[in-house]
This record gives sequence, structure tokens and C-alpha cells, in this order.
Amino acid sequence: MNNATIQQRDLAYVANTYKRFPIAVTRGKGARCWDADDREYIDMTSGIGVNALGFCDEAWAKAVFDQLLTLQHTSNLYYTLPCGEVAETLCNRTGMKKVFFSNSGAESNEGAIKCARKYGHMRKDPGCHNILTLSQSFHGRTVTTLAATGQDAFHHQFHPFTDGFAYAPPNDLPATLSMIDANTCGVLIELVQGEGGVLPLDTAYVKGLAAYCAANDVLLLIDEVQTGMGRTGSLFAFERYGIHPDIVTVAKGLGGGLPIGAVLFGEKCADVLAPGEHATTFGANPAICAGAKVVLDRLDKAFLSEVDQKGAYIRQRLAAMPAVESVGGLGLMIGATLSGVTAPEAVAHGISNGVLLLTAKDRLRLLPPLTISWEEIEEGLKRAEKALS
Ligand code: PLP
Repeated sequence: MNNATIQQRDLAYVANTYKRFPIAVTRGKGARCWDADDREYIDMTSGIGVNALGFCDEAWAKAVFDQLLTLQHTSNLYYTLPCGEVAETLCNRTGMKKVFFSNSGAESNEGAIKCARKYGHMRKDPGCHNILTLSQSFHGRTVTTLAATGQDAFHHQFHPFTDGFAYAPPNDLPATLSMIDANTCGVLIELVQGEGGVLPLDTAYVKGLAAYCAANDVLLLIDEVQTGMGRTGSLFAFERYGIHPDIVTVAKGLGGGLPIGAVLFGEKCADVLAPGEHATTFGANPAICAGAKVVLDRLDKAFLSEVDQKGAYIRQRLAAMPAVESVGGLGLMIGATLSGVTAPEAVAHGISNGVLLLTAKDRLRLLPPLTISWEEIEEGLKRAEKALS
């Protein structure tokens, strides 16, 4: 089967919810992949921040495969070994106290929102259920996480949404604090707004908000679905901002390519949700957890510092390319403003030139695998430069 035949069948039978590019990716290794016509691409997308270790990392695949041959699933009615190992590692490396495993980013945020609301009910009163998020945020596609998402573009035609969300202007501390009142149980933010355009929040704003939340017993919820798992050059972006969140949500890179999410609860929230109050059939799947352990173990200090160096290098090279007006981001989460060519056009030219790129709103976005080699970076940048010329 070639690109065209795979595309035709997809168009006939798969719900038309994705604007796909006309190639079918059939295999990959490291940061290289190939389509059904055997054309090679350098991958600067990592499946939108998922393939943290690139395509088909052998140690990760072996851990998943060995676990599949041992126990692929039981249920959350019983303990399993890989679940506890990943939870322990996450807690030890973040200072958080307990973990709930979900299957996606949106589900992680749902868990965080439920926990914050129950905390508000228990600690304050039943009216304390509002959650403040930010304009330009993105928190998922379920009805509640769409309500949490501060972008109108996602809201059309899906009303009514879950009540109790309001959107504050990012980086405007007085305006943000003026929207917090006695009925606010939590504030939910991304530290780098990913889908909003790869926009890192100002450190002073984040620190000011965190201090206000701590002083007023308002929970600080950090959505690290895109920024987490080494993407910004530290295990979690909150470390770079020097803050201590009450809840952190994770997904994307955690499974290295398999679906898993997690909600990390800090001291205040560790025991808020009780048995029966939150659950999911597939959560903490043993095979996916076995792979997640390999991903976590790979992201040591030396590895993370290389993520930082590679990110800085790519940003500097991109900034000198034709059509690039400005470049920003953190670590290997990179956004560029273009002129003379739109971001979707640049992505299409990228495909013609053998490099996979992303958009984030009207900006170009790069989320290469964290393991991308210097040789793959050079080749990818060479192709990106041709695409932008
Ligand atoms: N939160 C953030 C910050 C995201 O970037 C995303 C997805 O892009 C989500 C939540 C939703 O994650 P998922 O698509 O796994 O539900």
C-alpha cells in the first residue's frame, strides 16, 4: 500500500476530525521516519510531544514487550508492580506525594479538577468550586476540559459546558488576582502555553500567583501535559519556575508513545480523593508503566541538560532562517513567528523537503524527540531552512 491508497481508505472510513497531511507514516527509528512511498523525514514533532525517546527505542520497547509477556492487564482492584514503581519514581523526583494514573492529558486534568473541587467543598464550603484558568490556554477536549480551555475557537457549538471556569489574562498579576475570590478552589495554568502558541509565562507572574495561592489556600494546579517529562530541559517545567504546585498533570511523554496520563498530588491533596470517587479501567496499565519507567530513568540530569543545549542551539539556528521573525520557547519546546509564509504552509513545505514540523495557532512549532542526535538536528535544520526559503 502506498500513501495514496492508505489515505483513500482513511477518508472513506475514519471520522473526519483531523486535518491530515497526505502522507502515511509507516515506520521510524530515532528521529527519522518513513512514509508508505518510502520517503524519509526528520521528525521535529515526536507525535506532538509524545515520543520522548524517539521512534522505537529498544530498551523501552523491550520493557513493554517483556511486561506484555508477563501480565498485560488486570484491573485496578489489584496491585501491580510497574504501577507502584512509576508512582514512586514520580514522587521521589518531584516531591509530590501520591499519583493517580489516567489515560490522557484531558483525563489527567479532569482528575485534577475533581480533586480541586472536592478540596474546596471539604476545606471551605460547597460554593467553593470555581477554577481560574488563563486566556490562550489548552487543557483538553472533554466537555469539562474544554470549559477550562481559554480559547473561544474550541467552544463553538458544544454548549452547554461545565460551569465554574473563568479565564484570566496571562502575565497580568493584578488582573489575575482580582478574579480570585472565596469561591475559587484552584488556579490551573500551563507554564508554557503550548497549543496557545508556545508562550512561556513570565517567572515573576508565576511566582506571584503561586505565593498568593499558597497564602490564601487556593490550590495551584499546573498542567504539564505538554511541558512535562523533560520537554523544557527539566523533568517538569515547574522546577524551572521555582514553585511548589499542589497538583501537577502529566501525559504525552510519560508513556514514550503509549497512552498514559498521571495526576500528581502534593501534600494538601494527597488524600482528598477516596476509594470509589475516581477511577478508570485502563489506568496504570502494567505494560505502559513498564515503558514509562524506562522513559523516567533515561531523563537524568545529564540527559536533561543536553535537552537544554539542543533547544538553545535549534532556537539560535531557526532565528537566522528566512521568514523567521522571532523564536521562543523552553528546552525542546520551540515556537517561531513567521512572516511571508503561514505556519501551515511552512509545515507543508517541510513535508516536501523531508522534515516534519508542527503549528501552534499561527506560529511554527517544533517538538523534536528528546533523544534527537546532533546529526539529526543538523539534517532537520537543513531541510527546515529549505522549506522556509
Ligand atoms: N493539556 C495540554 C497542555 C495539552 O497540550 C494537551 C494536548 O495537547 C492536553 C492537555 C490534552 O491532552 P490529550 O490530548 O492527551 O487529552
